[in-house]
Amino acid sequence: MAAESMDKLVALCKRRGFIFQTNEIYGGLQGVYDYGPLGVELKNNLKRAWWNAMVYERDDIEGIDSSILTNPLVLKQSGHEETFSDPLVDCKSCKARIRADHLKDGKCPECGSDDLTDPRPFNLMFKTNVGPIEDGSSFAYLRPETAQQIFTNFKNVIDSTPHHLPFGIAQIGKAFRNEITPRNFIFRVRELEQMEMEFFVRPGEDEKWHKTWTDLRVAWWEKQGINKKSIELLDVPKNELAHYSKATIDIMYKYPHGLEELEGIANRTDFDLGSHTRDQSKLRITAKVDKNTKSNAKLAVQDPETKEWVVPYVIEPAAGVERGVLAVLNEAYRVEELEDGKERTVLSLKPHLSPIKAAVIPLKKNNEDLVNKAKELKNALQSLGLGRVLLENSGNIGKNYRRHDEIGTPICITVDFESLEDGTVTIRDRDTMEQSRLDIASVSDHFKKTIDN
Ligand code: ATP
Repeated sequence: MAAESMDKLVALCKRRGFIFQTNEIYGGLQGVYDYGPLGVELKNNLKRAWWNAMVYERDDIEGIDSSILTNPLVLKQSGHEETFSDPLVDCKSCKARIRADHLKDGKCPECGSDDLTDPRPFNLMFKTNVGPIEDGSSFAYLRPETAQQIFTNFKNVIDSTPHHLPFGIAQIGKAFRNEITPRNFIFRVRELEQMEMEFFVRPGEDEKWHKTWTDLRVAWWEKQGINKKSIELLDVPKNELAHYSKATIDIMYKYPHGLEELEGIANRTDFDLGSHTRDQSKLRITAKVDKNTKSNAKLAVQDPETKEWVVPYVIEPAAGVERGVLAVLNEAYRVEELEDGKERTVLSLKPHLSPIKAAVIPLKKNNEDLVNKAKELKNALQSLGLGRVLLENSGNIGKNYRRHDEIGTPICITVDFESLEDGTVTIRDRDTMEQSRLDIASVSDHFKKTIDN
């Protein structure tokens, strides 16, 4: 089940401390959000799951963490200065600025007028001044994608690791896009985080790997709790492809506001490595690249058998963290009617994504014996390193259960007076609401099993 409207998710995120509008006390900043106490945990858990799948569970992918500030030559050479733009239209009636492909039947979505300017390209990259003189002569871009820093580090990584083709470089980090109309909560923002992996393959093997990575990425999203029925694959039409792409498959997710891109898997060919290579003359580069690069590198590998220098092709699965967070929240959200006629809101997050892994609740607030016993158990579970375990010394078990259902805590563990006598506790399951009595000695195993699932 999913939230029927974005408003419900937005309200839950604010109420429970997942996501806040940035600088809200000053009226905010459009298209920029902050993550609260629970949001930061969820976001980190999603990123960790991606890193595990991309880097730790494979031996052919390395990770990097590169700078946000980017030398303008990189983005000139990559084609972004010229083409990383959206078509901008002005409404002459209400003065709204709109992306031409976001018009409603050719009319302004704000006021319905068709008195619009012709579309003109609007570059989405943010510039910032570098150094103390603000005369525009020394500037850097805030990277619009993490990918270019992977390409410019290609030689550093291949020279310092034992890899041959195929192999990949993964990165998670911020990217910035001056979106014309940021909207739909965290779906389209100006400051975003991407999880990108560039997989370098032999030319000719690219189409096979494109298919493989598309399948792997869909399977990964399913493991994050996204129902396959909520996903559609879109083979991006040729006339809509980014300038570097030979083919792109978008993983589209049914967000509350409609079917939209969650992740794109692009075949970037040899476009980027070719563009950043100094002497292209002795290389076979299939993509049309600008030959005037000022880079001093040869971003190619030598085939161990033929000794021929090859510029690898690149398959790029690129996902947005915000869009991932929104999708898993939406997918996990449900409202259930209880037997007593009341409702409960539950976030059925996969346990590895839950912000709080378990809540340990002493039955009576501030009762020293109960609180000490609960603290001991909390510390034992916390030391397993599976994520945050919370001691809830606030009394009112029913209220605690409701709160933890709503924030997606997989289990609540109640320590009561019986616990002091026979060493057992009550375990309550978030999804079934079933309660069972368990020996404290077995709680760690039960907890591990729950989170590992
Ligand atoms: P869109 O067509 O929706 O603007 P895009 O095709 O430009 O997206 P890519 O350049 O392929 O996006 O970026 C890779 C991923 O980064 C996207 O699949 C998306 O998850 C995320 N992303 C891109 N732009 C934004 C944004 N403004 N806000 C949030 N996430 C974004």
